[in-house]
Amino acid sequence: MIVGAGHAGGAVAAQLRQFGFAGPITLVGEEAYPPYQRPPLSKAWLKGEAGSETLLLRPADYYAGAGIELRLGATATALDREGRAVQLSDGSVYPYDSLILACGARPRTLPVPGAGLDGVLALRSIADADRLKAVLRPGLRLAIIGGGYIGLEVAASARHLGAEATVIERESRLLARVACPELSAFYADTHTARGVRFVLGAGVEALTGTAGQVCGVALSDGNVIACDAVLVGVGAQPNDELAQAAGLACDSGVVVDLEARTSDPAIFAIGDMTRRPLPLYGCTWRLESVPNALEQGKQAAAAITGRPAPAPEVPWFWSDQYEFKLQIAGLPIAADQVLIRGNAGSGRFAAFHLRSGAVVAVEAVNAPQEFMAGKLLIASQKPVDVAQLVDTGVPMKEVVA
Ligand code: FAD
Repeated sequence: MIVGAGHAGGAVAAQLRQFGFAGPITLVGEEAYPPYQRPPLSKAWLKGEAGSETLLLRPADYYAGAGIELRLGATATALDREGRAVQLSDGSVYPYDSLILACGARPRTLPVPGAGLDGVLALRSIADADRLKAVLRPGLRLAIIGGGYIGLEVAASARHLGAEATVIERESRLLARVACPELSAFYADTHTARGVRFVLGAGVEALTGTAGQVCGVALSDGNVIACDAVLVGVGAQPNDELAQAAGLACDSGVVVDLEARTSDPAIFAIGDMTRRPLPLYGCTWRLESVPNALEQGKQAAAAITGRPAPAPEVPWFWSDQYEFKLQIAGLPIAADQVLIRGNAGSGRFAAFHLRSGAVVAVEAVNAPQEFMAGKLLIASQKPVDVAQLVDTGVPMKEVVA
């Protein structure tokens, strides 16, 4: 039984079949669509460059063919751990031998007056993306609250469509929680050159409206940013309420081990809703990325089919803005040194984060070799030759060797 038919839920259902699981599989999802990918929602889909069939993880008829019962438009409302059953919103009850929770996360809302006005939008689902797409048009003034990856990707797509974009960020730089200052500066320059405006270090006091429609973002310094629509991109919170109500261990996300097992051995949890161990970093983390959803799907499917747990992967993530592909591996945390290879001005560079002389993370812009090599360096945990690392004349494969 799999609850949540998103990226992780769809992937684990197929992975179970690939690993030879022959029992019945039921995949329950509250959205109306078969499992689909969210990354294009802020990029190609929003720009109108991708058709709906390209969003689907697998063709819609795959599930019936693979003996996977897909229950769409159905919400799991309660878990009965003792009786090993899941209750759905329509009153039906599904028994399970193994249960996989894959409920994802939802956008954080802004706790300010006016947050419920018309034209205040968020971005998580196809329905959200379609609402945003419907308002984006040349000349529309879009205020984006939050200078994280989703906010910046939407800013790039909005500019592509001719809309005006103003990004309002509480911190003094973009991507402050997740990226090094050099990367923040690169994106600030890149977006500014394409007409995006930034208001940094700005607190949002309220959203103002006329006749129920948002028309401004009131800042704590008294300024008001006039707008026609607002996108709130201030992070996501895990959908872990079902797990919490069932008494599973949660800590801002369902706590799982490297087999994706929760505190109940018959229940697994995967994807954005989990807090998982990161052995390379000696900590637990809530990763919100497609590679993590796939890795944890593999862990759960391996455990259920009696295979050895797959070796932990180096976490990674990507973001596309304009003609720049950012690839990040590792966690840029607890680094004591950041070294830049290449030149941000050329639009191709990488920031290597080191701790005690070993690479713990890499942020690579249009630099796939640095990204791939960075992943290997992170996994090796060995000290790196710093002079070679920053010398673009030395090929990355020599740095890794
Ligand atoms: P989801 O895909 O959100 O799926 C969870 C599903 O469970 C949802 O359909 C939800 O409705 C359903 N559900 C929840 N509760 C219940 C319930 N009780 N009963 C039934 N169903 C339920 N990652 C990257 O690596 N690179 C990117 O460039 C990138 N871009 C992104 C852009 C956008 C706009 C967004 C929103 C995300 C992006 N991500 C990106 C993150 C990535 O999409 C997520 O990490 C991934 O979708 C996580 O998969 P999941 O299955 O855990 O969650």
